Formats: sequence, structure tokens, C-alpha cells
Amino acid sequence: MPSYDYVVVGAGPAGAAFAHFASEKGYRVLVLDQAPWPGFKACGWAVPRQIERTIRLPTEVILTEIKRFRVYLDGRPVQEGEEGTWGYIIDKRSFLEYLVSNATLKTKTHVEISFKPRPRVVDDKAPKPSLSYVLAPGSSGLSDADLIYAIQVIVRSSRDVDPEMVELYFQRELVGYYWVFPRGTRVLDIGVGGYRDPKELVEMLKKFVEKLSEERGGLEVIEGPKGAWINVGGVNTQFFNATPPVIGEAAGFVYPITGEGIRPSIVSAAAAFNRLEGRSFPREFDQTVRWIGIQRKLLDMVKKSSPDSRARIIETLPLELFIGIGLGELSFMQLLRALPRLPRGVASVLKEALKGLRR
Ligand SMILES: Cc1cc2nc3c(=O)[nH]c(=O)nc-3n(C[C@H](O)[C@H](O)[C@H](O)COP(=O)(O)OP(=O)(O)OC[C@H]3O[C@@H](n4cnc5c(N)ncnc54)[C@H](O)[C@@H]3O)c2cc1C
Repeated sequence: MPSYDYVVVGAGPAGAAFAHFASEKGYRVLVLDQAPWPGFKACGWAVPRQIERTIRLPTEVILTEIKRFRVYLDGRPVQEGEEGTWGYIIDKRSFLEYLVSNATLKTKTHVEISFKPRPRVVDDKAPKPSLSYVLAPGSSGLSDADLIYAIQVIVRSSRDVDPEMVELYFQRELVGYYWVFPRGTRVLDIGVGGYRDPKELVEMLKKFVEKLSEERGGLEVIEGPKGAWINVGGVNTQFFNATPPVIGEAAGFVYPITGEGIRPSIVSAAAAFNRLEGRSFPREFDQTVRWIGIQRKLLDMVKKSSPDSRARIIETLPLELFIGIGLGELSFMQLLRALPRLPRGVASVLKEALKGLRR
């Protein structure tokens, strides 16, 4: 039986990225995942280009470049942006397979882990690493976290779609949103996530796709619906700093407002690997943790506000703030300039955030 320096539980973006960083440095890494293949879980496959500060995206895994986006409120377009490349829709399975290509991957292998009283592997049959286990199981087993559900279908369009355009649809009654992401010129990923019961979300998505199909001349569902929970509770530093470390969504590395989890999970993997090596965290880590915290506070505010105030925020938020808050990328000056134009609740959360940002 071969021996391994690291044994990673979970071959999602967090676990696969950890395997990539460690195997690149010559460590022997075993990755165990209960799913039949990496990237089996439902996901929109969208990543902003800022991900490339932490990891290289091989061109073969990029399905389309995102160059345009449109935001709708109650069916009406309210925000629109076009500016170079915002990000990518990637083939997540190929990307994860690339990340684990220098490690050993075993799929269909469940590992018993426990988070109480502290994160650990409790599975006698699991191979023992010479250095450390790394726990990257996503949101599974996190019953105490603040979880939202998200569900998606893959559809074939009878007409060509713009492969560079992503669309977000907000409805004032929903704390969450629908998305329409291209996977090519004829295939779309359509989903919805938010604070609703999974069954209700399935019904909501069905109606949404039917309406869009009428408007766009025919959409045929070819996959799904398929859904999963997303941990939007914010970073759990105790989990992240534990031995063994917990990384990715399991430790709250997800932007709570957008539900974007691939990039922060990879940032957490890079930071955990540095920690195990005795090196300082990458610069990206602090900014990621700070913005997850800011988005978490904004989400609390949005949850408490009325449907009409939510609508007002979506309609009136200046475009650069809409993007900057969504991506966790606003500079001190951008924030300062924007404060007087913002709804009161948003302004007070962002004023706090200003204190943590460098001038
Ligand atoms: C419908 C939907 C759409 C989304 N769209 C996007 C998007 O477009 N962009 C984006 O950035 N994020 C998106 N997200 C969020 C993103 O998918 C996750 O945040 C991200 O995948 C988390 O990475 P992770 O590696 O921490 O966990 P996961 O991707 O959940 O991976 C964890 C892995 O661990 C395995 N596992 C769990 N428990 C065990 C165990 N006990 N033993 C063995 N294996 C185990 C699972 O099978 C899984 O493969 C979406 C989420 C959903 C649900």
C-alpha cells in the first residue's frame, strides 16, 4: 500500500486545489471523494478572472469568456455592463481533473469525518497521511451553518445564444436570484438559489424556464434539476485554523451574497497549504476573508429589509458598486466616493468596511 504525505477528503475546488499546490511541490497526495467524479455536484461553473491571481486556468477548461452581463429586477433590465473579460464559464470537471492530475484520486470513497467537538477523520479504514489530513467536504454535514439551497437545469436552446453574456434575475420577494449562464452557443445553465425550501425552488425554476422558453423561442431541459446546499454563513476561522485544516465551503469560503464559492475555496486551499509549510498566507487571503465578512453583513441587512427596499438597492446601486461588492474588489476611494449615494443600510455596513481597507 503506497504512503501519502497528505490525504485530502473531497475533490471539489478546495480539495483539488490543495492537491495541486502540494503535488506541485513534490508531496504525495491522495484525494478521496464519495462522488463518482470530481465536479459531480451542481454548480454554475462561473469564475471571475480574479481567480487567476491564485491559480492558472488552462485554456482547455474554458468554455466561454464572460464579457457582458445584464441584471433584471422583476423581469425588467436594470443594470448592464460590458468591459473586457469579466471571467469565465469553465468545464469544472476538466478543471478539477487537471488539478488532481499529479495526485492520486479515488472516487466513490466515503470517509467518515466529524466536526464535533473538533474537525477530524473518524474513519478507521481511511489511509493515514505522514503529514496531515485536509478536510474539504463542502457543505455536507454542516447542519449548524447558514445554508441556502440552489438548483439548476441545463437546457438546449433552439436559437443561438450570446455565449459571452451572463444574466442575473432578481425578484423583490426573493432573497436570492436566478441566473442564466451560457455553456456554449446553444446550451445554457439556468438556476435559482435563495432562502426557500428546495421543493419550492424547483417549482420556481420550472416556471422561470417555461417563461424564458416562451420569450426565447424554445428551451429544452436536457439535464436536471439538480441542486445542493451552499454555506453562506461566512468564514469559520476555527475550522480553517484547526488541525487538520478545514478548507473551502466547509469552512465558509463562499461569498454569501453571490454564492460564489470556487475562487474563495481555492484561495483557502492555497492559504492552508502555506500554513502547513510554515509560510505566510497569500495576499489574496486577507481580502477574501474581509469581503466574505462584508457580504455576510450585507446579507443580514438584506434579509431583514422589505421586498421594496431590496428592489430599491438593486435598482439604485451604482454599477461599479454592484460589481465591486459582488466580486469583493472595491478600493478605499471607490467606497468613499460612493457612500453618499447609497441607501442607508448599505452605507452603514460599507462604512465599517472602509476601516479595514487600505488607502
Ligand atoms: C447550484 C449551484 C450553483 C453554483 N454556482 C457557482 C458558480 O457558478 N460559481 C462559483 O464560484 N460557485 C458556485 N457555486 C458554489 C460552489 O459550487 C461551491 O462553493 C464550491 O464548489 C465549493 O468547493 P468545495 O471544494 O469547498 O466543496 P464541494 O465543491 O462541495 O466539494 C466537496 C467534495 O467533497 C466530497 N465529500 C463530501 N463529504 C465527503 C466525505 N465524507 N467523504 C468523501 N468525500 C466527501 C463531495 O462529494 C464533493 O465532491 C454553486 C453552488 C450550487 C449549489
